[in-house]
Amino acid sequence: MFIDTHAHLFYPNFENDLDDVIKNSVEAGVDKIIVPATDIPTSEKVLELVKKYDFIYGAVGVHPHDTKDWSNELIEKIEQLADHDKIVAIGEIGLDYHYDFSPKDKQIEAFKAQIELAIKINKPVIIHNRESDEDMMKIIRSYADTNLRAQFHCFNGSLDNAKEIVKMNHFISFTGNITFKNADSVRNIASNISVEHIMLETDSPFMTPEPHRGKRNEPAYVKYVAEKIAEVHRLKVEDIARVTSFNVFRMFGIGNKPETSFTYVIGDNLYLNITNRCNAHCTFCDRNGEAEVSGYNLKMSKNEEPDAEYYIKEIGDPAKYNEIIFCGYGEPTIRWQTVKEVARHIKEAGGKTRLNTNGHGSLINKKDITPEFKGLIDTVSISLNSGDPRQYAEMMGLDTNHFNEMIMFAKNARKFAGHVVMTIVSVDNVDVERARKVAEEKIGAEFRIRHFF
Ligand code: SF4
Ligand SMILES: [Zn+2]
Ligand SMILES: [Zn+2]
Repeated sequence: MFIDTHAHLFYPNFENDLDDVIKNSVEAGVDKIIVPATDIPTSEKVLELVKKYDFIYGAVGVHPHDTKDWSNELIEKIEQLADHDKIVAIGEIGLDYHYDFSPKDKQIEAFKAQIELAIKINKPVIIHNRESDEDMMKIIRSYADTNLRAQFHCFNGSLDNAKEIVKMNHFISFTGNITFKNADSVRNIASNISVEHIMLETDSPFMTPEPHRGKRNEPAYVKYVAEKIAEVHRLKVEDIARVTSFNVFRMFGIGNKPETSFTYVIGDNLYLNITNRCNAHCTFCDRNGEAEVSGYNLKMSKNEEPDAEYYIKEIGDPAKYNEIIFCGYGEPTIRWQTVKEVARHIKEAGGKTRLNTNGHGSLINKKDITPEFKGLIDTVSISLNSGDPRQYAEMMGLDTNHFNEMIMFAKNARKFAGHVVMTIVSVDNVDVERARKVAEEKIGAEFRIRHFF
């Protein structure tokens, strides 16, 4: 099920057939739509729509094009309009220097005032930005220490800006323009930021995707946007539907948080969520927070941890999957006995196994567990994190001995597992070449960079 986070259903060209448009969108798998206003009269129309249709949500605010008569007195009016459960954001607001509809200083004044209202009432903002990147980034950075949460809609800025936006924990959404032949730069941005920060939108009635380009856009066409994002991330369209809907829940509070998944599919792989427990405390890890991966909720307490029999039953025929991966928002070797039992079953039934680990399994189990990989674990993927022991310890909230332990574990794993991969997360201050040297030259492992953005 898709959520179209941006459809202007109050436009006159929906006047005669809105019920059909909505029916088509439901048939195309759209289960929720957010309608952002562009000025005060359309904010009132949005409020009518959210009251009329239970799966329509709205945003109220003044678009940069309509700010030429802006006065701060409007804030009170917007605040009143926003005072409804189904008005989930202030938007769309922002800057647009492409058209000259409103003077820049008015646009900036209105934008900042509406951001401040959103912060005050604790609702997110939906941002429109066109040819105004420099001022936009300056303004957004100035709110970095607040509770501002923003969706950058119809994103067409630079990759560097996209990365910075995501780092500040905001979201980016793409429209039908991602399907256009000449939109390589948009596709490049979409492929370089993690799906945990992407949302879907149509921007109806504009930005109609291929193969309907040139006609009126409508929420049903959001599936073409989802298909393109799936393609650039080498995922399935179901993956994109699930993760983007979870993102909408996180940002706008629409829908429900999914139940915990103890096993889950991404692409052609099956993942086994083994535990949330870990001996480390990585700065970038969210196991004590949302514990979300690709739209799955992995949160579990110790007494919810399933036994081997549960996983075996859930797996069914292991040969259905490209790989079956022991992971979790935690360290799976903490439950090494269970992992071994399940791995034995998978191997006997002709499946392929991978263990994602921090490389402290021998320390945790107080014995060298790597000889037990033989015949059970085809690939071991170890988080190297950094080639610098001090930085490694700092990132993981541990001491430098753990670096040596992980290196030893990797060397031993090379003897007993079919294949060893060492990974780092692409964060700015990690020396990628130093890490690569450790993985490839010291261990003889394959080196991989996991994208954090
Ligand atoms: S080792 Fe993995 S699970 Fe443990 S804290 Fe670090 S990132 Fe999280
Ligand atoms: Zn817009
Ligand atoms: Zn819009």
